[in-house]
Amino acid sequence: MSVIDFDKLESVIEIPKNARLFLEKPEKEIRFHLNLVVDEETYVAVDACAVFHNTARGPAKGGIRISPTVTLEETRILAELMTYKTALVKIPFGGGKSGVCTDPKAYSPFVRSSLMKQFVRMIENQLVSGSYIPAPDMGTNERDMAIIYGETGLVESVTGKPPRIGGLPGRREATGRGVAQTSKEAAKRMLNTELKGLRIAVQGFGNVGSWTCRFLSDWGAKIVAVADHSGGTCNDDGLDIHELMEHAERAGTVKGFNSGSITNEELLSLEVDLLIPAACENVITEKNAADVKARAIIEGANGPTTKEADTILDEKGVIVIPDILANSGGVIASYVEWRRAKSGSITKSEETYRTVDNLITESFIDVMRMADEKSISYRNAAFALALREVIESMRDRVWI
Ligand code: NAD
Repeated sequence: MSVIDFDKLESVIEIPKNARLFLEKPEKEIRFHLNLVVDEETYVAVDACAVFHNTARGPAKGGIRISPTVTLEETRILAELMTYKTALVKIPFGGGKSGVCTDPKAYSPFVRSSLMKQFVRMIENQLVSGSYIPAPDMGTNERDMAIIYGETGLVESVTGKPPRIGGLPGRREATGRGVAQTSKEAAKRMLNTELKGLRIAVQGFGNVGSWTCRFLSDWGAKIVAVADHSGGTCNDDGLDIHELMEHAERAGTVKGFNSGSITNEELLSLEVDLLIPAACENVITEKNAADVKARAIIEGANGPTTKEADTILDEKGVIVIPDILANSGGVIASYVEWRRAKSGSITKSEETYRTVDNLITESFIDVMRMADEKSISYRNAAFALALREVIESMRDRVWI
């Protein structure tokens, strides 16, 4: 099933029959297994896959997810989202994603590095030819990307590397930067208020959640609650995010921070201005959408709101800024990193932030305009703009 409601969008933009047919299924899927012998008694055998949804606009771009719940179906959806995310912010990439079905915390650094090397061997053609350019996603980090670089020997074959070895200053925090910038634009243009003093709840305190909190609190917003897989912490006067980051680094969770405690379910129904789900998909569902009291939801995670929940939130008048816009900061920075690898130029983090802020703000305004003109949700407006871009690119290439 596609992330796009083609039937609905047909009344907004022209969708040729063959374009729909080509976009409903990924161009290519590869299933493989990562098999390792660690010692005489220990071995690893895990399922993995890579999906390339559409490459009309450029090479497939998308992160590697390592999680025990990874499936081919989930990877397909995430690859498809990447096609539209890159098109919406107009960077020259297509949509891809890969997944490894295992617990990323279950391995020693040495075994983990062997696992990543095996991953490279399995899809070496795609990585070396530059037709798939991975980056970190849930469960993967800069070091994993460094291993991929080490194996391919090509600095442009992967993004999200450590800054010392070809990575981009500002890439680590870029997705959070983009979510924060989207929140700022939503406050200004939709809630008619400044970010300063706004009450915000954030689910997830990994790469995306923690940097989102950091920028928003540095800009004067009050982060009143944060939760992760183990539990949550809250403070009505605003949490000290710098201290919370130090605590989470030490403890591996926000739980146990010197403040109040809160569950994930309670956090999602808090009376706040902005609710930012930045952990995983399907957390706002038909079961809890009616309880949401936030004025707006900014989707930091991919796919945190189910279709049924979307309808309920729409009826309640809750603004939803979709993932393909809100969390596009990471792929924008990845593009800057890839371009830099090709040109050898030097980029500072301020320049990365500026590119993320500018492209997100431009797309935000386009999405708002389209939603107002056509009286559709921000999600459908974002998909319509992105889909139009992909269709035109397929026309340019005489694919349709
Ligand atoms: P991460 O692994 O760094 O952090 C995930 C966080 O979510 C952790 O704090 C974890 O404890 C928490 N979490 C996981 N499952 C949870 C649950 N069921 N309930 C509550 N908390 C839970 O991952 P990340 O890179 O920050 O990615 C988070 C989301 O953002 C994912 O949907 C990912 O696809 C999306 N995303 C990431 C990037 C990026 O650059 N990393 C870019 C775009 C989108």
